[in-house]
Amino acid sequence: MLPANDKYMHNIADNLNRLHRQIQQIAERAGRDADKIQLLAVSKGQPATAIRTAYELGHQRHFGENYLQEALEKQRALADLTDICWHFIGPLQSNKTRKVAEQFDWVHSVDRYRVAERLNTQRPATRGPLNVCLQVNIDSEASKSGIAVAALPTLAEKIIELPHLNLRGLMCIPRSQPDLQRQRMAFAQLATQLNTLRHSTRLARLDTLSMGMSDDLEAAILEGSTIVRIGTAIFGPRQTPG
Ligand SMILES: *Cc1c(COP(=O)(O)O)cnc(C)c1O
Repeated sequence: MLPANDKYMHNIADNLNRLHRQIQQIAERAGRDADKIQLLAVSKGQPATAIRTAYELGHQRHFGENYLQEALEKQRALADLTDICWHFIGPLQSNKTRKVAEQFDWVHSVDRYRVAERLNTQRPATRGPLNVCLQVNIDSEASKSGIAVAALPTLAEKIIELPHLNLRGLMCIPRSQPDLQRQRMAFAQLATQLNTLRHSTRLARLDTLSMGMSDDLEAAILEGSTIVRIGTAIFGPRQTPG
């Protein structure tokens, strides 16, 4: 049983409908086209049956996972759902890149060249380029993964040369902040970094800002997010830690 004051309802259909309404309303306020905002359902800590439920409602096709082993098990259980688009959003060690290159459509958490180079080499030719975002440590927190802002242009210019990767943009997980204005500041910084990169001709087609989670969705959309990564607000509390 969930505590009575749990702020997230437990019904995946209601939750997805509510989120689409919210995204629509926030986009309107921001003068943005809601169709340019992808809802990525973050299913870490949730069983494969929850993913299937979301899928069968008809519209949700993008799912995000953080842990490779857990993701591979669910992908096996859901192998009949061939048009799911899988996003890897968790920390990625060099020794895990092969399976990620083979089994995913997107990686949001690239933060070093060595990982990018391995994903490039290991991407099966039959699957087309792997979409990647660079994870940026936007609050310069010592404990957080992600590349420092100052190192971003050099890394982006190297990764854009890798033929089996399609560098799409930037991702961040800002420090948790209750206040909307403070949330917006971190996301605005990521948006500025993307715009700066786009001044380089080779990086001009970067089009993705992966930012915003259940508790900072509004701030992220107001600042230009193109992929919001939502777990708890769709699926309720996670059933395994993560
Ligand atoms: C878990 C996770 C999310 C989703 O978080 P919620 O607060 O459950 O919406 C989004 N992005 C990343 C990188 C995550 O690890």
